[in-house]
Amino acid sequence: MSELTYKQPHIATQIDKAEQVAAFQFCDAYKDFLDKAKTEREAVQVTVQMAEAAGFKPFTWGMPLQAGDKIYYQNRNKSIILAVIGSAPISEGVRILAAHIDACRLDLKQNPLYEKEELAYFKTHYYGGIKKYQWVSMPLSLHGVVFLADGTKKEVCIGEDDNDPVLYITDLLPHLAQDQMKRSAPELIKGEELNLLIGSVPVTDETDAKCLVKEQILQILNEKYGITEKDFRSAELSAVPAMKAKDVGLDRSLIGAYGHDDRVCSYTALKAILELENPTHTALCVLADKEEIGSCGNTGLESTFMAYFIEDIAETLGSKARVVLSASKCLSADVNSAYDPTFPDVFEAQNSSFCNRGVVVTKFTGARGKSGSSDAHAEFIAEVHHLLDANNVVWQTGELGRVDLGGGGTVAAYIANLNVDVVDVGVPVLSMHAPYEVVAKLDVYMTYKAFEAFIK
Ligand code: MN
Ligand code: MN
Repeated sequence: MSELTYKQPHIATQIDKAEQVAAFQFCDAYKDFLDKAKTEREAVQVTVQMAEAAGFKPFTWGMPLQAGDKIYYQNRNKSIILAVIGSAPISEGVRILAAHIDACRLDLKQNPLYEKEELAYFKTHYYGGIKKYQWVSMPLSLHGVVFLADGTKKEVCIGEDDNDPVLYITDLLPHLAQDQMKRSAPELIKGEELNLLIGSVPVTDETDAKCLVKEQILQILNEKYGITEKDFRSAELSAVPAMKAKDVGLDRSLIGAYGHDDRVCSYTALKAILELENPTHTALCVLADKEEIGSCGNTGLESTFMAYFIEDIAETLGSKARVVLSASKCLSADVNSAYDPTFPDVFEAQNSSFCNRGVVVTKFTGARGKSGSSDAHAEFIAEVHHLLDANNVVWQTGELGRVDLGGGGTVAAYIANLNVDVVDVGVPVLSMHAPYEVVAKLDVYMTYKAFEAFIK
């Protein structure tokens, strides 16, 4: 009878002690990656360093290629493709791992700086789907680039070093929040109330009667980066949680961090391709930008940058893009919502993903009647299913919450548009899109094993 029925087990019951230790060690390096790569630009920089250390060479259009070659294509400092050329004819298709390296955050507006009652602030515009009230009264750091009038690019990172100051968004004290607490949750903190507190002391210049806190801030920024107020107009600066990744739980079985979505799939996919040697099929790892705002822009996966890259290697290796894409398979590597026992009402337990039950295979995303989903074919899921079982990868199915309650999407739909077989595969996350999200270490490791098996 036990062969007829099935219940998804906890990973710890499926692996030995040695593998558990290996999983936890794997996650120590993942935590370092999280702390170093808090924006898509930083993630690309770290990825290039890791790729070059592993012998990957920069891609150029039309470069000669042969089996075993390792290349990377860096797109506008915000997305990147790594590839290892396989021994099989390219017409048999490529194997793609596609994750995203952007995460929800607060971007500075183009004219951000102002002062009110001797407190200086930056105005922000949030990026991605956030609960705005979660971003107040916590330490925030500032990351990004500023282009000066002479074209010089300055990289900014304030708030990550232990000696750095942090930025902060105030909230109202409960004593005076009677009216605020009557607002509905999306309005509890409004978009225009997400103002970053950045200073409180004016310039002390005896000759200048109108000394401003704002000027003091500009002086500090000018000394450190050469920035003037005009330069904010050609800047991309983002505030993100200043907290570092930490073990969560007395048993250290979980990780709390900013931006697990989707750096947990980016890191696991990246590790898998960096370690790949002489695959049969050409393998790609795509780390894309802009997923959190709809995969738009020329660094997001709705653009043609990945298709053009595949077209170029197809032609170099004697085939056509349409032939290669039509024979290609992809794991859209993104997170799913883990069942949260504190909020059982939004989940349908029989079809939810759970922490510690392994990498999640999500057949479809979308909303209402699966709208916006690419809905993977049973034929392809069966193939992935058998591959995972054959490689002792503990996996589960998942669906993003109850039918009719909400929904979501990933890059899968855009990759399916290229006539590639694609299914969502990734890590279950608690508190997804919160400033500090939680994943289970054993799931992270199983996701890495799944990606390794897929491209090997
Ligand atoms: Mn995601
Ligand atoms: Mn997301």
